[in-house]
This record gives sequence, C-alpha cells and structure tokens, in this order.
Amino acid sequence: MAELVSEQWKIFDHLLDAVFIVDRDGKLFYTNESFRHLCDAPLRAVTSHEDAVKYIELPEECWEPLRESGDSVSDSAGYREVGFITKSGSMGRAQVFTDRIRISSLSQDELFYVILRDVTVEARLHAKYKVQIDNNERLIGDLQRSLSETAFLRRLATELPIYTDTGTLLSTIANRMKTELSFRDAHFFTFPDPQTGEIEPFGLDKRMGSRLREVAKFLGPALKEKANEELVTSVVFQPFGLFWITYFRPRLERPVVLVASTKPGEEGVDHRILLEALSGQVSTLLDNRSLYFASITDTVTGLFNRRFFDSRFGIECMRATEKRMPLTLLLIDIDHFKKINDDHGHQAGDAVLNTLGQVIKRRIRGSDIGARVGGEEFAVVLPDTSPMDALIVAESLRKQVYEMNVAVHGLDKEIKVTISIGVAGYKWATDNQNSLYKHAEEALERAKADGRNKIISAEPPAA
Ligand code: GH3
Ligand code: MG
Ligand code: MG
Repeated sequence: MAELVSEQWKIFDHLLDAVFIVDRDGKLFYTNESFRHLCDAPLRAVTSHEDAVKYIELPEECWEPLRESGDSVSDSAGYREVGFITKSGSMGRAQVFTDRIRISSLSQDELFYVILRDVTVEARLHAKYKVQIDNNERLIGDLQRSLSETAFLRRLATELPIYTDTGTLLSTIANRMKTELSFRDAHFFTFPDPQTGEIEPFGLDKRMGSRLREVAKFLGPALKEKANEELVTSVVFQPFGLFWITYFRPRLERPVVLVASTKPGEEGVDHRILLEALSGQVSTLLDNRSLYFASITDTVTGLFNRRFFDSRFGIECMRATEKRMPLTLLLIDIDHFKKINDDHGHQAGDAVLNTLGQVIKRRIRGSDIGARVGGEEFAVVLPDTSPMDALIVAESLRKQVYEMNVAVHGLDKEIKVTISIGVAGYKWATDNQNSLYKHAEEALERAKADGRNKIISAEPPAA
C-alpha cells in the first residue's frame, strides 16, 4: 500500500517545507528531502496522536521538541510553533501543521501528514531585530508624546483667558495637566515672601492632593536658595511617589513653583523639557495677564481707565440696543476738588481719589463698569439697570462719601468731601454712546449749578 500511494506523495519531494506521513502507530510512510535535511537523520518513530506536537516526540538521537521552553503557539491557520533540537544538536524553531489523509479504498488505513516549516532563521532574525523594533516603537511613542505635549502647550497659549484671576488661571492649567498630559496631580505655588521660604498654593483648590501638600511643606526652605535663579527643575522621590518640582520666575510676577506627581508606571519618563517649556508658557501668560490689567486699570483708584471704559461703554450700549435692555450711566465728579489740592497738597487729593475708587468698586456689581474717566471724574455703566434703580446706587454713593472722612498720610486731620452725580438712562431708539454721555454730563452740570452734593437725572423719572 505504501508504495502505491507514495507515488502520489512525490509532489512533496521538493517542497521547501518538511513533510512526513505516518500512520496511527507511528509507522513512517514518507519523508521528503527537506525533512531529511532538517532532521539530519531518517525518522525512526512517531507516536500517533492528532496533536501535532506529539508527532514530534522523536528519539533523542534524532530531534525532539524543546518542552522546557513551553512556548508553542497556534496561529489562525492551525500552525503551531515549536522548538526542536536536531540529532547534530543544533536548535531551531518550526511551525507544524497536521491533518488526516483518508484513503477511501483502504478505509482501515488512516494516515496523517505533518508539515514542518523551519522558521529558525526567521525566529533568529526576529530576535535580532526585536531590539530594533522595540526601539523604534519607543521612539514612535516618544514622538507621539512630544506631539501631544506640543499641542498642549499651543492650546495653553491660545485658549486660556488671561483676564481671569491668577488662582483660577493656574488651577485650570494644573487640571489640564492631569487630564491632557500624564500627570497624576499638579499644583502651582507661590512665594509670598521668598525670604521666609514659605510657599502658598495659587488658588484654593480643594482638590489638591494631600501628598502634594506634604511635598510643598518642605519645598519652601529648600527653594529659598534658588530664589535668584530663573528656572530650576528637579525630581524628588517620596515614599508615596515621584514628584517633579519646577521653580521659575516670570518677569513681572512673583516666583512660581509647580509641583507635579507622575502616574504609576510613568516614573521613567523624563518630563524636564516639557516642564521647562510649560514654565515658559506660564511665565508669558502671567506676564501678559499682568500687562493686560495694567493697560486697563487706573493706578490711582484701581478702577478701569478711560481707554477700557470707552471700548466697553460702546459694547454695552450695542448690547442694550440688541437685547432691548435698560442701561444707565452715572457721571460722578468730586466737588471743589481743586481746593483739596490747594489746601492739603496733591497727595491728599490722590488719597481722596483712591478712597472714592474703593467706595465705587465696593458698591457696584461685577457686570457694572466703574472707571476714572478724567482727573476727578468717574463714570459707572450699569447694564440691565433702569435710571430708577440707578438712582438708588447713586444716592448710596453720594451718602457714603458725604458721611466719610478721608485719612491722609502725614496730615493730622481727616478730610471731608462731597460728590455730584449726573444720571442718564439709555434710550435704544434714539441714543448712542456719545449722546448718552452728553446727557449725563448735562445732568452733572445741573447738579453742580444746583449747589453740589446732588444727584440730577437727565430726565426726571416718570411719577
Ligand atoms: P467742581 O466742584 O466744579 O467740580 O470743582 P473742582 O475743583 O472739582 O473742579 P475743577 O475741574 O476746577 O478742578 C479739578 C482739579 O482736579 C484740577 C486738577 O488739579 C485736579 N486733578 C486732576 N487730576 C488729578 C490727579 O490725578 N490728582 C490730583 N491730586 N488732582 C488732580
Ligand atoms: Mg470737580
Ligand atoms: Mg471735574
């Protein structure tokens, strides 16, 4: 029988894959040239089993699977990869595939063919290039990380509103470091006084981790020596994690300390370049913020300046027209201010301006715009407020100023002042920014003519 069918098996003779055919008892019927070459010797025995690996339980002097390696795997095509040793002692790896051959005319004879693909060279090449492949994968990973970090830094520069307070601005950045970069926790601190070495969190973020607080506690004294440096990045190991500390000094603002903890498994990542670039961005943001506020604030009173008032006043008028909402303008002028300067000096005059600025700031809402628009003239825009309601604000300002005494540094007695206020309501059908201002000015003039310490409405409110 063997001779009969073996004629058909000649097709395997020159196949590159090693092929042998056995029966259930392990009797060998056929081996091709590749197989004989692979084994260095004729096959002597194979056990009968459907599992391909079992077929390779061959005599020791021939070859056998490397059982201790225990790494035989099946791929989707049914090939299993096994290790083997040839009779001459060389080790290799092969992919094995096996199936039955049924010979219908001789139904008792059940044969199995086994295909062995020698993948020793591929395996060696794979092992050799694995280091390179792993390296490349690491490089790609690093590159992807850098790209997302660059995108993050770009977003910081373009997306964050610089007109929020510093605490909110820095808490936002710290939170984004957690969600968009791979930090477990992050927070910004400041030195209220670098001499004492005490550091304080920017913004009272209750979510700040207790571990970060613990690290922050010993940081101050350690950073005291660095107070004059521009930028210092260091890493500290704590029993509870790895922390990156970045100290940097913006040009206009106080020194900042950024404490960021790494995620577990990320301890090996070098964040230095990122953190240094980030510090640069944050410095710029803080400086821009500070320049922005300087450009819109009047230094004597702390209110907005004329430039900011002009642009916002126009916007608020347009908004009132669009939404058909009321808007009222107050123009406030200090009475006989020239006399204060003349009697007590310019410094006394400035103290009065400053005090009035604080009074106005405290009395108005966040959406109102209080500005110093001239030497001793102030304007308050009250959006969504009718002249009727604005009169209440005006009267409370007038009364407060009338009742207060202004202490002046170097002057033994306190100064008393009064203010006059012109009130004008915006009529969206006929008014614009300029006409409204004019109406308020006219009302203010009448208040002055009427004896000062007065409030006059451009149009008396309907009875
Ligand atoms: P009235 O009751 O009519 O408003 O009289 P007044 O003296 O307040 O008005 P007037 O416009 O004659 O004088 C305004 C004075 O304000 C003149 C100027 O010296 C003074 N002044 C303007 N800017 C400042 C400033 O920044 N500081 C100080 N101390 N004085 C200023
Ligand atoms: Mg005046
Ligand atoms: Mg004046």
